[in-house]
Amino acid sequence: MASDANNNWHALSADRVLQKLDSTTRGLSTEEAARRYKAFGPNELEEGEKLSKLDILIEQVKNPLIAVLGLAAVISFMADKFIDAAVILAVILINTLLGFFKEYSAEEAILALRSQASAEARVLRDCPETGTCQEMRIKSQEVVVGDIILVEAGAKVPADSRIIEQANLELDESMLTGESVPARKMAEALQEDLITAEMDNIIFAGTVVTQGRCKAVVFATGMDTEMGKIAHQIARTEKAKTPLKRRTLDLSKKLMILALVASSLTLVVGFWRGFELIELFLFTLAMAVSAIPEGLPAAITVALAVGVSRMASRHAIIRKLDAVETLGSITAVCTDKTGTLTTNQMTVQKLFLAGRIVDVSGVGFQPKGDFELDGVPLKASEDKSLSMFLKIASLCNDASLKSHKEEEDRWEILGDPTEGALLVAAAKAGLDKSELEESHPRVDEIPFDPKNRYMSTFHRTGSAELLALLKGAPETILDMCSYVLDRGEVKELDQKRKEEFLKASSQMAAEALRVLALAYVTIKPEEVDEFKNKGPANLIFTGFSGMIDPPRPEAIRSVHLCKRAGIKVTMATGDHKITAQAIARDIGIYEEGSKVLTGSDLDDLSDEELDGLIQDTSVFARVSPKHKHRIVQSLQRKGHIVAMTGDGVNDAPALKAAEIGIAMGITGTDVTKETADMILTDDNFQSIVNAVEEGRVIFENIRKTVKYLISTNAGEILTILVALVFMAINVLIFTPVQILWVNLVTDGLLVVNLAMEPKEEDVMDQPPRNPKENIINMDIVKNVLFVAAFMAAGTLLVFTRELNGGDIHRAQTLGFTTLAMFQIFNALNCRSEDKSVFKIGLFSNKYLIGAIVASIALQLMATTLPFFQMALGTVALSLYDWAIIFAVSSTVFIADELRKLIKGKSLIRI
Ligand code: ADP
Ligand code: MG
Repeated sequence: MASDANNNWHALSADRVLQKLDSTTRGLSTEEAARRYKAFGPNELEEGEKLSKLDILIEQVKNPLIAVLGLAAVISFMADKFIDAAVILAVILINTLLGFFKEYSAEEAILALRSQASAEARVLRDCPETGTCQEMRIKSQEVVVGDIILVEAGAKVPADSRIIEQANLELDESMLTGESVPARKMAEALQEDLITAEMDNIIFAGTVVTQGRCKAVVFATGMDTEMGKIAHQIARTEKAKTPLKRRTLDLSKKLMILALVASSLTLVVGFWRGFELIELFLFTLAMAVSAIPEGLPAAITVALAVGVSRMASRHAIIRKLDAVETLGSITAVCTDKTGTLTTNQMTVQKLFLAGRIVDVSGVGFQPKGDFELDGVPLKASEDKSLSMFLKIASLCNDASLKSHKEEEDRWEILGDPTEGALLVAAAKAGLDKSELEESHPRVDEIPFDPKNRYMSTFHRTGSAELLALLKGAPETILDMCSYVLDRGEVKELDQKRKEEFLKASSQMAAEALRVLALAYVTIKPEEVDEFKNKGPANLIFTGFSGMIDPPRPEAIRSVHLCKRAGIKVTMATGDHKITAQAIARDIGIYEEGSKVLTGSDLDDLSDEELDGLIQDTSVFARVSPKHKHRIVQSLQRKGHIVAMTGDGVNDAPALKAAEIGIAMGITGTDVTKETADMILTDDNFQSIVNAVEEGRVIFENIRKTVKYLISTNAGEILTILVALVFMAINVLIFTPVQILWVNLVTDGLLVVNLAMEPKEEDVMDQPPRNPKENIINMDIVKNVLFVAAFMAAGTLLVFTRELNGGDIHRAQTLGFTTLAMFQIFNALNCRSEDKSVFKIGLFSNKYLIGAIVASIALQLMATTLPFFQMALGTVALSLYDWAIIFAVSSTVFIADELRKLIKGKSLIRI
C-alpha cells in the first residue's frame, strides 16, 4: 500500500499513526485485512532472480547441437535434398521445444518449492473488543498496512512498521543502513527530518531482531518499504549452478571434444574410402549429433528437480541447490536435542520444592492433573511454596495455552513447549496466566538467551516494589540465589544446601528429565537496570521443575541408519549434561566409551585438543551457539563434511560454517531459516536422514543417466565407424536422418527417465561418497566399452546379413531398428550399476516403462507409416524381422545381467 510520502510516521505519536492507518492496537479484522490485501497486493519484493522463459529458450538454442543440425540442414538444402532439410528443421524445432519445456518445468518446480519456505509473520487479527488477544501466524506476504505485528529476537521484520510498544528491542539494520552495530529502538515520537538510520521508532522490512521484542503497526508493504525502494540495488543471487551441474557441464565439454574427434575420423575415413562427398558430409554431421551429449544438462536439471521435490515431500525443503548433492556426501550430523531428537511434547512430571518432591499427574497439554507429596494430595492454596512456584512458572513465561476452537478438550500451546508445559502445570492448580497478568502486569524483562540460560520478568504488584521472577538452568539460577523459600518461609541458603539442591537436580536429570530452576525476589524499580547490567543477585530459590520430553521413536531408527551409512551423529544441546546423556543413550547416539563434553570443557580445550577428542565425542551439553561453531570447525578439520542444525538467532554462524546448515521450520527463527541450506518442515531428525538418502539417490541417478548417454553414444559411433571402414563404397549403414532419429527420439525419450529411478534399497549401506569423486569411474568406462561392442557387433550382423540379400533400404531399416532396440535394452541395464533389473523390479520406474513403450511404438511408426518411410528412407518389417531384431538386441541386456550376476557372486565369495 502506498504510504503517503508526506506522512512522517516517525514524527507522529503511535496513537496518531494508528488513527491515520485506520487501525487500533488490537489489529484488523480478517475481512478488513483481506480487503486491503486485494486492493494493495501482496507484501513482497518483485523477484529478480528467476530465470525468464526467454533465458531458458536462448539456452536451448545456444546448444552446439543446434549449430550442427543447422549446418546439416543447409547442406541438405544446397544438395537439393529437400526432404532431409525439412526433417532436420523439424528436428531442430522439436528438440528446442522439448528441451525448453523440460528445463522450464524443472526450474519452476524448484522455485515453487523454495517459496514454500517463505517467512511467517505474527499478527493480531480478529481480536475481541476486550480481554486477551490471540496472535495469529500468517505468511509474511499476507501482511497489510494497518496490521499489528509482533516480532521478537530472531525474527525478520515483515514490513515497515511504527513501534507501539517494545522491550529491549535491538535490530540488525546493516542490510539497510550499512551500520553493523545493532540499533536500539523506542516507541516515542521523534523529531521530523531524520534519515533512515535515525528513525529509532521504526522497524524496517528485511531487518532482523537481535534482541527483545515489540509490537508495531505496519505502514508500508512490498515495494513501498525502504527495502523495496532499494530492491534493485540488492545483489541478485547468481543463477544456481551447483558444483555437480558445473562438473557435468565440464564432462559435456570433454564429450564434445570426443564428438569432434569421432566425426573428423568419420570424415577422414570416408574420404579415404572414396565416399560421395555430400552424402559423407551429412553423414558426418549426423554422427556428430550422435556424439554430442545433448540430453545431459536437461537430465541433470530434472534429476535435481525430482530430488528436491522428493525431499520436500519428506519434510526437507532445499533452499540452496548445492545442498542437494552435498547431502549425499555428509559424513557427520550434529543435531539439536529438543524437538529434533525428542518430541517436544513436554510435560512437567516432578517438582522439587526445596527438599520436598512433588509428583504431578496428567499427560500432554490438557490442564488436568493433581499434585501429590508422598502420595498425599498437595493444594496450591494451602502451600505457599507450591503457589509461589506455580506463579513464577506462569508469569515468567512467554507461551500461551488455549483450548482448540472446535474441540473444548484439545489444548494447544503457542510458543516454546518448555514454557507451555509450565503453564499447563500452573493451570492444573487453577492458575490462569491472563488473570495473573492483570493483577501482576509485566513492566520489563530480560529475555531468554541460550548463552545465559535464564530469563527474568519484572511485575508490578500492589506495592511500590516490583516482583522479579526468574527461571533458567539450575546451576545458573542457584548461583544467583542467597535465600530459599522453604515450606513457605524465606531462609538463608548456604553453600552446603545449594550443593544438595544441585545434586537433586542431577538426579532428576538422570531420569532424562529437563530441569528448570525457578526463583524470585522483590526489588525497587530502580534496581531493574542493575539486574540487567550486572545480572540478578540475592534471589530466593523456589524449586525445580522436571519435565519429560520423550525421544522420537523414529529418531532411534534414523540414528541406526546413519551408523550403517557411515555417518557420525553428534548431539549438541543447551540442556544439562546428564539429561543429554540419558536421552542420547536411549536414542543410540551415546554408547559406552564415547565422551560427553560440556560447553565449559570446550572453553578449556584448545583447538588441537578438541580435534583430538571430537572423533570419540557423541554428546555436547550446555553448549552455546559459539560452541556449536567450534564443533563444526573441528569436525571439518578432521575431514568431515558436516550437517548442523540450529534454531536460535545466534546459530547462524554455525549453520553458515557447516556444509549443510539446517534450520527448523517450526521452532526456528527467520535468521536461521535464511542462512540455512535446508529447512525441516517437521523439525524431525529423521527428515535429515531422509534428505541424505535422497541426496545419495540423486547422485546415483545422475551417474546412471550419464552412463546411459555415453554407452549409447559409444555404441552408435563404433557401429558407424566400423561400417565405414569395412562396407562397400557408398553403402551407408544408416541414412543421416535415421541416425538423428535414434539420437533424438529413442535416446531423447529414455534418458530423462533414468533420472527418476527410485532409490536402490542399499543406498544407506554404502559409506558416504567422496565429494571429489568423478561421475565417471573406471568401472563405468569398462562397462561402456563392453556395451558398445555388443551394439556394434549386433547391428552390423543384422545389417550385413540382409545386405547380402540385396535391398539396401531393407538392410538399413533392419540395422536402424536393431540399433534403436539396443538403446531400449541398454536403458534397462543402466537402471542399476550392480543389481539385476528383476531384483530392483522391472516395473518400479513407471516413467521409464512408459518411455520404452512409446519408443517401441514410435519405431513401429517409423517403419510402417508412409510419411515416415519417405522421410527416413525405411521399409515395412515383418514379424519375423522383428523377432530377429529382438533376439539380437536383447543380447546386450542378457550379457549385462550376467555381468551383474558374476560381480554379485564374486563379491559374496570375497
Ligand atoms: P536445547 O538444546 O535442549 O534446545 P536450549 O538451548 O533451548 O536447550 O536451553 C538450554 C537451557 O536453557 C535449558 O536446559 C534450560 O535450562 C534453559 N532454558 C531453556 N528454555 C528456557 C526458557 N524459556 N526460560 C528459561 N530457561 C530456559
Ligand atoms: Mg531449544
